[in-house]
Amino acid sequence: MIRDEKKFQAMLAEVQRFVRDECQPLEEEIDRTDEIPEPLVQRMRELGLFGHSIPEAYGGAGLTTEELALVNIEVSQVATTFRARFGGNTGIASESLVVDGTPAQKDRYLPRMASGEITGCFALTEPEAGSDATALKTMAVREGDCYVISGKKCFITNAPIADLFTVFARTDPQAKGANGITAFLVERGTPGLSSSAPYRKMGQHGSPVGEVLLEGVRVPASAIVGGVEGQGFRTAMKTLNKQRINLAALCVGPAIRLVDEMVRHARTRRQFGQAIAEFQLVQQFIAQSNTEMHAARALVLETARKRDEGVDVAMEASMCKLFASEMCGRVADRAVQVFGGSGYLAGNVAERFFRDTRLFRLYEGTSQIHLVNIAKKTLAVR
Ligand SMILES: Cc1cc2nc3c(=O)[nH]c(=O)nc-3n(C[C@H](O)[C@H](O)[C@H](O)COP(=O)(O)OP(=O)(O)OC[C@H]3O[C@@H](n4cnc5c(N)ncnc54)[C@H](O)[C@@H]3O)c2cc1C
Repeated sequence: MIRDEKKFQAMLAEVQRFVRDECQPLEEEIDRTDEIPEPLVQRMRELGLFGHSIPEAYGGAGLTTEELALVNIEVSQVATTFRARFGGNTGIASESLVVDGTPAQKDRYLPRMASGEITGCFALTEPEAGSDATALKTMAVREGDCYVISGKKCFITNAPIADLFTVFARTDPQAKGANGITAFLVERGTPGLSSSAPYRKMGQHGSPVGEVLLEGVRVPASAIVGGVEGQGFRTAMKTLNKQRINLAALCVGPAIRLVDEMVRHARTRRQFGQAIAEFQLVQQFIAQSNTEMHAARALVLETARKRDEGVDVAMEASMCKLFASEMCGRVADRAVQVFGGSGYLAGNVAERFFRDTRLFRLYEGTSQIHLVNIAKKTLAVR
């Protein structure tokens, strides 16, 4: 749902300008240095990018699902690492608080997340609990008015730089699966909490991802998201359901960019005395990519609108994530092919997007996990 078309288009135009004029020229440099320069992060703060999905009452823009999807399609037309810097705060790192936080928790954290003063992260995955997140082993033991948390989280986006950690831990060792898991808000500086150095990754350089170590971390009971024990996994699923639509939108932007890049290259590269764009086999790469990008965009926007209308889109959100991430992978692969040998060299736009977008099929539910979800839900209603 778009609330105010004129206002929204002005905001979108501002985002487009920022992405094209300030981010795109830095793409290669950040891929090499693995770091987003602080002045650019400051610009993201000034433009309100950290607070897009946070309600207006807490200083954010309160974007609807459709509005956020459209913004995500714009911001992902440059290297996706830029969006990863502020995306936690407008996605998984704030959404648990937005959907289930107590008024006091929202007052304490959301305004500072919306302004970008603090960076959040969502710490669910563990070495032995990836696709099966309910197998997590991190424990939180009640001691009087406090909980003592011990465990290890891995693959956590922004962990090396985060100020606020949403940590999922088991509070009831007897409960099985999703039951007995609780979400805690843990601030950097709490004794016993530490984060690792960033991993070296295949792509998305500039987006620090690392481990979180919790060694007897003592937090008050008021740190439980929503204040109620045992609700953590439900909170995580609510968060991820919305995030899957966001993420699918983030797969559409790279496809738009890569279609543009394929067209530009195909028009200028000449072989056999003519532009390679004249060859129908090259045209096929472009036509297939453009068609699939349009299909993914349509699915994402339709699902976003349905969610804004209050429809349960759990299955459709999975379909969006699955289809858009697989589509993006196919488009990136075709882009490398259109660029030929140069598409395999470091510094080439197709090569960089190929590495960056590979992640989309892995995190926030692998393609296989989404297929399983979709099958389960389809079989349940037929
Ligand atoms: C760069 C990066 C950033 C990340 N950021 C975060 C973050 O911020 N917060 C967070 O909590 N996590 C994060 N993750 C973790 C991510 O969500 C997990 O890596 C993902 O859920 C997969 O878990 P896994 O790596 O343990 O793979 P596994 O679960 O071990 O899967 C390995 C393979 O087995 C397949 N498989 C597993 N189960 C089934 C099944 N039932 N049926 C069919 N196939 C199956 C998978 O599809 C996959 O192909 C991030 C990961 C990466 C790489």
